[in-house]
Amino acid sequence: MRRTVFEADHELFRESVREFVERTLLPLDENIRAERMLRREVWLEAGRQGFLGMQVPEEYGGQAAGDFRYNAVVGEELARVAVAYNSIVSIHTDICAPYLLELATDEAKAKWLPGFCSGELITAIGMTEPGGGSDLAALKTTAVRDGDAWVVNGSKTFITNGGHADLVIVAAKTTPERGAKGITLFGVEADTPGFTRGTKLDKVGQPEADTSELFFENVRVPDSHVIGELDRGFIHMMERLPQERLSCAIANVAHARGVLDETIAYVKERRAFGQAIGNFQHNKFLVAELITKLDVAQAFVDQCLAAHVTGDLDSVDASKAKWWTSDVQNQVIDACVQLFGGYGYMREYRVARAWMDARVTRIWAGSNEIMKEIIGRSAGL
Ligand SMILES: Cc1cc2nc3c(=O)[nH]c(=O)nc-3n(C[C@H](O)[C@H](O)[C@H](O)COP(=O)(O)OP(=O)(O)OC[C@H]3O[C@@H](n4cnc5c(N)ncnc54)[C@H](O)[C@@H]3O)c2cc1C
Repeated sequence: MRRTVFEADHELFRESVREFVERTLLPLDENIRAERMLRREVWLEAGRQGFLGMQVPEEYGGQAAGDFRYNAVVGEELARVAVAYNSIVSIHTDICAPYLLELATDEAKAKWLPGFCSGELITAIGMTEPGGGSDLAALKTTAVRDGDAWVVNGSKTFITNGGHADLVIVAAKTTPERGAKGITLFGVEADTPGFTRGTKLDKVGQPEADTSELFFENVRVPDSHVIGELDRGFIHMMERLPQERLSCAIANVAHARGVLDETIAYVKERRAFGQAIGNFQHNKFLVAELITKLDVAQAFVDQCLAAHVTGDLDSVDASKAKWWTSDVQNQVIDACVQLFGGYGYMREYRVARAWMDARVTRIWAGSNEIMKEIIGRSAGL
């Protein structure tokens, strides 16, 4: 189906992102998986090409595009190759950026944003803790006032970019007795004494990402690094989650589409019983179903994207997009594994890796159960 959400400028921009993926990222693909993190040289090249500071004002070195469709283009092109590439970059550009742009102090913006745009300062966000991620209000990390600074103690887990981020946005309790109304966000620079990282976590998929545990032991954070209002961190996070979930939905569809395109090419070539396996009616119908599922999902995501550009995307529609697309993505890729037969189970094949990579999209960014909780609540239940 022809998509109408993008304009000529976005498609021109897409060509440059695609070239970056082919020239800079793909030649390093195997090394990145072996090293289990995105190399800094890739970040720096992305920065040079203007793919990191799309929302950032020009005075800080950004492009000031002010149009999330450019982020969507970057997300789609990265996710087509591997969904982890999107998550690594979008944590920075789609998820951390709004906190820094909308809530950081002027002093912090001047310090952080130029490096944010150039790729010299990589960001991560630490909400989830070993004790739980869905129930954010119950987080245990604390920040206590001491003289002219805040002292942060606690730990975070499953943090994307955790292994190499230079700046982590950390949610901590400043007034623990007030629960959700006692959370504040802090920008913790990685060279601050007391901040340490665990080893890269051994995930089922997405080896490209250095998902890590983070530890905070008497980490002193100045007032200028408080992000947003004191005790309003929970609201700040809730207000920014729709963009995070839209970003996930965009990537989910693009990832599945990339794998399906490759699968269609494969079933045209692979032969059994004297004919291409794609010619068996069962497989032809299966491919027809997968194409349809993705087109239908894409139509909803594009509508959400258009709504986000005009400021009309709410958390309920973003939740629908996130859970639905992650389910469809997993269904499509699982069927693609089947169509590849035994090769579909070999790590050497992208379809096998994509199958392992996709499983987490139903868990992260707010699990699909939490998405349904939000949608159900909107129905008055
Ligand atoms: C690869 C990866 C990368 C990640 N990146 C980040 C990151 O960069 N930053 C970050 O902060 N977090 C990150 N996360 C954490 C992720 O967001 C959490 O794993 C997720 O929110 C779920 O939290 P949890 O793992 O603690 O599960 P739990 O909250 O313990 O939930 C366990 C199960 O219970 C279900 N459940 C919980 N509450 C309810 C309810 N009310 N109703 C019905 N079912 C419920 C959940 O849906 C889930 O199925 C990442 C996770 C992974 C795996």
